[in-house]
Amino acid sequence: MQIESATSIQLAELEKELSAHYERICQHELSLDITRGKPSAEQLNLSDNLDGILAADYRAADGTDTRNYGGLIGLTCARELGADMLQVPTEEVIAAGNSSLTLMYHAVVTGYLFGFAGNTPWRELKAPKFLCPVPGYDRHFTICEQLGIGMINIPMDEEGPDMDAVEKHIREDSEIIGIWCVPKYSNPSGVTYSKETVERLAQLGQITNPGFRIFWDNAYSVHDLGHYVSLPNIRSATLENDTVDSVLQFASTSKVTHAGSGVAFVSASSANLASLKHQLQAMTIGPDKVNQLRHSRFFTEFTTLKEHMRKHANILKPKFECVLEHLQHGLGESDLGQWEKPEGGYFVSFNTRPGCAKTVVQLAADAGVKLTPAGATFPYRKDPEDSNIRIAPSFPSLEELDTAMSVFVLCVKLASVRQQLKQAS
Ligand code: PMP
Repeated sequence: MQIESATSIQLAELEKELSAHYERICQHELSLDITRGKPSAEQLNLSDNLDGILAADYRAADGTDTRNYGGLIGLTCARELGADMLQVPTEEVIAAGNSSLTLMYHAVVTGYLFGFAGNTPWRELKAPKFLCPVPGYDRHFTICEQLGIGMINIPMDEEGPDMDAVEKHIREDSEIIGIWCVPKYSNPSGVTYSKETVERLAQLGQITNPGFRIFWDNAYSVHDLGHYVSLPNIRSATLENDTVDSVLQFASTSKVTHAGSGVAFVSASSANLASLKHQLQAMTIGPDKVNQLRHSRFFTEFTTLKEHMRKHANILKPKFECVLEHLQHGLGESDLGQWEKPEGGYFVSFNTRPGCAKTVVQLAADAGVKLTPAGATFPYRKDPEDSNIRIAPSFPSLEELDTAMSVFVLCVKLASVRQQLKQAS
């Protein structure tokens, strides 16, 4: 279907047909949800052996009694796990609580209140701002919004953030104090940053103010659907460019084991870790080491974790295929939208014709299919093109997803045809 070249009569006929189909679907009173990237129960089951794995042996290999207070930076064995996930040395890792998002929030507050590595606290700047590659992860943007940190949209392409735009903004505005990056299987576009992008990011520390930090949220480092995709190592690149202080890396086992009770990690230079610890020691006596030990026993080797991720992939892959088949079959030969075909991560990013995303989301909601709100993937929830919709296939069953996707495709068609009709009249 090419609606650009359709006549008004053809469009009107099509609209009538699609509307009738839509009305029939609405009568089914569906209640489906493809909003958030939550693992399904089947995926969570893969990690149920965490329960009881300690068998009353609470001592870590280094003799730590994990039941007791202490150990601000986490158990060594847990830090080793984080080091494997982020491909960095164990000494540069803190193993913390259950959420990397909490750690990111903590890191932004550290920069804001105290500054990193002796640099000016961001709150002392007139208008501190983060660069936000878009579409991006809504919860990153919420952190900035809550703290009154400005946000600047940076377009994403197939290699990562548009680095010309990134460098231009940094050269023009010395109050840019950070950038959000989801470097592997980006949320939501699925893009993995190229070597050149990683290198250019690693060089930013040479042109930014010294308090600037790259928030390297490597949430999907081991979440490949097929073959392992390797991400260029940002730590090595910053070592080569003498910019090691410019990066903070994050990861967690949230979508590896149990999503609400995993272990989160932050990795950084010793100067940055000192800044984080300064604030952390006022907040807590130490993390949940019992849970950290459970995870270390569950994943005795990094290869065990990789094998475990294959089992996740076996569950997730058919769901991604289902989404992509619906899009290809329903919209493949049309001018009604574009989408990514990710090799990992948790999302499929879909772009409608400009100005249609909100209508698609509303039509789907009225038909009983909940989608992530249009605009959610942009700072301040404002998609300038009203085009991006994030599809999260992991949580529903394959059967539910199949139904949800037929409704989605129908809503995309209906919204596009109605928009075109309106423009034509
Ligand atoms: N970062 C990204 C990019 C995510 O997609 C998610 C989960 N949706 C998180 C962080 C949250 O991770 P955690 O559960 O470790 O807080």
